[in-house]
Amino acid sequence: PKNDLNLIADKLPEWLEESRKYTVLGRPASYIPELAYAPAEALGVTVMGADGTEITAGDCGLTFTMQSISKVFTLLLALMDHGEDGVFQKVGMEPTGDDFNSMLKLELVPPGIPFNPLINAGAIAISSLIHGVSPSDKLSRILAFFREVSGDPDLTYNEAVYASESAHAHRNRSLAYFLKDNHVLDGDVEEVLDLYFKHCSIEVTCRHLARMALVLALNGKDPVSGRELIPKRYVAIAKTFMITCGMYNASGEFAIKVGMPAKSGVAGGILALVPGRFGVGVIGPALNHKGNSTAGVHLLQTMSEAMDWSIF
Ligand code: GLN
Repeated sequence: PKNDLNLIADKLPEWLEESRKYTVLGRPASYIPELAYAPAEALGVTVMGADGTEITAGDCGLTFTMQSISKVFTLLLALMDHGEDGVFQKVGMEPTGDDFNSMLKLELVPPGIPFNPLINAGAIAISSLIHGVSPSDKLSRILAFFREVSGDPDLTYNEAVYASESAHAHRNRSLAYFLKDNHVLDGDVEEVLDLYFKHCSIEVTCRHLARMALVLALNGKDPVSGRELIPKRYVAIAKTFMITCGMYNASGEFAIKVGMPAKSGVAGGILALVPGRFGVGVIGPALNHKGNSTAGVHLLQTMSEAMDWSIF
């Protein structure tokens, strides 16, 4: 493993610049208008070893919002709040093969629960499960959990991105009201959506993603203190969803070509991991038509092939 870190440190700048060419094949998301301002040609990466050693390359200082990457951690918090039985009454365990914001299967497949917790419908259902005595208490609990896993006590959400998403979320509102009608959502729909927009807008750098990935790679243990932050069983569930649904409807192709548990977001971030060994955070705002970072996916594929990281 030590040699691996040396090899990565040696090669990473080269792999990154090679992958940066792929940014021209995509564009930053614009359905949330604030995301369109992201630099399209940017690409950055942080790799964190099990002992906390960090290697970075490219635009790793860029801040961006987690978007769908946050769904992995709200799922984990909901599992800690309700256990498996409680969570899987509200969401299923199957990939959809549809776009991440699709509503097709909510209507077509009884009983109308979302297929999995990583599509928008499923993540909105998960947001409704987060314990708390008030909306602000629920947000505080999410932030406290994300801060603990990322190791950054100042982590918070980006007000402009949150406001932008909230003002343009016609499709997510439709999904949420549909879920309410299907008796999947308890409570106030707008409150649930507000919490969802806020956790999607939590602002990070690649370093935060690498550290959060490393906690999952270590089965829920804090890399510094060794303390259990998340029960191992729930981390196993999250990693399985990352393999089957983490890259939306490109998860099968990503599993074949890269073979790492990963989760992407529409701001261009990707959180990926090598079990027991590495956490990886990537940012590349230019996305392909399925909503994944073009250059980010290429960089992960390059690294996985060179380092033999596929779990398969
Ligand atoms: N906040 C985004 C949305 O709800 C998250 C989607 C994503 O990253 N794929 O549309």
